[in-house]
Amino acid sequence: MTQYPSTRKNAANMWRCDKCGLPIQDGHGTIELIDPETGEHPLGTSCLIIAYHRRCDPQPNRDAYWIRVERARGGEMLDWIEHLLEKPWFSPANAREFIRRYQDGMCTADGFKVYENAPKAGAQ
Ligand SMILES: [Zn+2]
Repeated sequence: MTQYPSTRKNAANMWRCDKCGLPIQDGHGTIELIDPETGEHPLGTSCLIIAYHRRCDPQPNRDAYWIRVERARGGEMLDWIEHLLEKPWFSPANAREFIRRYQDGMCTADGFKVYENAPKAGAQ
């Protein structure tokens, strides 16, 4: 059997914690989707999507829609986006942000970024 060299892109891609900046191992964190109508965003930004280690979450009992990190990677991301778009509070703009966050935050277990996005429209 041929052994192909592993590359960073083939590594188990991980979400990166919004608090400590480190990769979130399977079983150790969640992605939260904040309802823009009712949710109070813990980072105080316009971002509706946040990823935390369980140990880093300042409000672990906050009422939010959450997904375990190990369930929001690769092909499962598409399943989530399809599912979430059925919800009245999840807009196409939210879907775009979810994808953007996924691409911006994804890293390998040793912390290397997986994707490099083109600059956002309007950014210099
Ligand atoms: Zn963390």
